[in-house]
Amino acid sequence: MDCIFCQIASGNIPGDMVYQDEEVIAFRDINPQAPVHLIIIPRRHIPSLAHLSEADSALIGRMVAIANQLAKGEGVADKGYRLALNCGKEGGQLVPHLHLHLLGGRRLSGRLG
Ligand code: 5GP
Ligand code: ZN
Repeated sequence: MDCIFCQIASGNIPGDMVYQDEEVIAFRDINPQAPVHLIIIPRRHIPSLAHLSEADSALIGRMVAIANQLAKGEGVADKGYRLALNCGKEGGQLVPHLHLHLLGGRRLSGRLG
């Protein structure tokens, strides 16, 4: 498997980890777009949002709950932050392993694209 995020999840490639459990991990983005920029992923390789099944609803819910906890830990919860899920080429997804961006620590643009 040559997926970069699977390799981070398995420990083959180092990541600046901020959270790990049996199902989900989170690490700092290598090219941060804001003072706080975390990537939250399922350990399981799911290529994109478009590949989710109904059985994955709880997993996505957990990823959002973990992101909210991390936002608190990073000190951005009160001022505000953004969670983003990009899907496919035109949605701005470069890494084909489902991931949630957590951005915060500066005033983010209101523009979405
Ligand atoms: P996308 O554009 O697919 O939604 O976002 C992919 C994100 O993953 C980008 O923000 C990029 O900086 C980050 N990224 C890509 N490769 C690596 C890596 O090897 N390590 C880490 N920590 N982040 C990465
Ligand atoms: Zn993967």
